[in-house]
Formats: sequence, C-alpha cells, structure tokens
Amino acid sequence: MSDRALAFWRLLDEVEDYLCYGERTEHVVPDAVRLAGDEGDSRVSAEASGSGTSAAAGTVHRAGPGVPPAAVDERPEASGADWDSSSDPDAIRRRRLAMLEERVRACTRCPLHEGRMNAVPGAGVLDPLVMVIGEGPGADEDRRGVPFVGRAGQYLDKWLEAVGLDRQTNAYITNIVKCRPPENRDPRPTESDACLPYLRDQIELIRPRMILSVGRIASGILIGTNAGIGSLRGRTFYYNGIPLIPTYHPSGVLRNPEYKRPVWEDLKRLRALLDQDADAD
Ligand code: SF4
Repeated sequence: MSDRALAFWRLLDEVEDYLCYGERTEHVVPDAVRLAGDEGDSRVSAEASGSGTSAAAGTVHRAGPGVPPAAVDERPEASGADWDSSSDPDAIRRRRLAMLEERVRACTRCPLHEGRMNAVPGAGVLDPLVMVIGEGPGADEDRRGVPFVGRAGQYLDKWLEAVGLDRQTNAYITNIVKCRPPENRDPRPTESDACLPYLRDQIELIRPRMILSVGRIASGILIGTNAGIGSLRGRTFYYNGIPLIPTYHPSGVLRNPEYKRPVWEDLKRLRALLDQDADAD
C-alpha cells in the first residue's frame, strides 16, 4: 500500500477514534499490524494477536482536537493501483479491524490496562458463522495476547470442532473486556462499560451470523440481565438482530462436568440454527 493510502486510512482511524470515543488518544502502531492488512486475512489475525510486545518499535501518532491531520489527496487516481485494492469492501473491513485491534492494544480507558502484559482483542475470521464471546482474558491469554488459549480455551476449541467450527476458518473469538482482570475476578461494570464500544465495533465489522456467549457475565451483559446462566441457556436471544445463544463457560464445565450435557444441547441447537440459516440463503 502506498504512503498516501496508508496516511488516508490512519486519518480515517483518527476521525473515527475521535467521533466514537470522544477523547484524545495515543496509538502505538506495531510494524506487524501496519503491514498485516497487506498480506491477507490470516496474517491480520495471527500477527496482530501476537504483536503486543513489539509496540515499542512502532510509530506514535495522536488523534483529537488541536492536532491537524496531514493533508491527504483522497482521489482514487492519486494513489494508483494500491488504492484500487484498498477500495475492496472486505479489504477495508480488514484494515479497520486491524486498526481497532491496534487501539485496543494501546488502550488505557479503564484500570485493567495497568496490570496487563498484553491486551487481547480477538482472533478469527471476517464473516464468521459464529462469534464466541467470553468475559475476559485469563493468565495464558494475557501472556500470549490471544483469546482462549489456556485449558478452557482448548476445551472451547473441542466444542467448536464438534459442530464444524474453528477459529481458523469460520469463527471469531473475543471477550467483553480485552485486558485481564486481576486474579481472574469478574470485570467491574465500569470496566465492561469502558470496553464495550470495542466489542460493538468488532461485531459491526466482523458481521457474525450468530453469537455464542459463554458464561454468566458475558451472557448477562449482552442480553441485559442479571439472571443466572442456568436460566438463560436453552433460549435464543438477539443482539442487534443477531441470534445469540448463551451457554456455560468452558472453565465452568471443567469444574462441573454435569454441565456437559446442557452445553452439548446448546451447541447442537446452534448448529441446527446455522444449518437452517444456510438453507434459507
Ligand atoms: Fe481498554 Fe478494554 Fe483494556 Fe479497559 S479492558 S484498558 S477499556 S481495552
């Protein structure tokens, strides 16, 4: 991508940052993230997820009032062939998603940033059949900057595999809060409120067919209730028009094997709804 096109996308990001978050922010752009969108979907996920430690090598730029943006010639012909490839709607979404992940890695909007090793924006593909949403990263995820990679995450991968899903081809996995709460405590309402705009933007950009919320916290926040997960599961809710199926969190099932059967019922129902949806297309 040409410097002009890159500058344009950065300008868009800065404007969006200001409009959506209403505050002056500072972003660190890791080299891997800036380059990832130029080399396909898988690189965006893989490199962006693991690049938190390379942030110091990146470029610092600022958004907000009082910072004049660089002049950019937005005419397509001004940027040549590179611009043409970036006008592809999917390429635009990939780039905006990479920029969103970049914002998450630099975020200091709530106190959870103080104790993190890595923020964990998410991993998976655009237009997934399912977006899995948990409550927050644990110790393994914090160390690696990738969601659901510990024991519970490996268990989640088995669940998904059992119904023909995986994060490499047709799923996207993320959390309500992108930074690890200390001692794996529940995220506080102020923390989840601060982080939710990122999730809303992810859902809008990624466009999942369905959402699988795992655990009481994530399900309660997305559905808007304090009810226990036992009373929510078995039903289908809607989040901004997207079917949402709540179920137990994999770590809860590891602790309580009696939840295995209800989870399997939820997964089978999820698969059936996906198949119905595909038949209707
Ligand atoms: Fe920012 Fe979310 Fe991390 Fe809080 S949890 S610092 S809002 S990315």
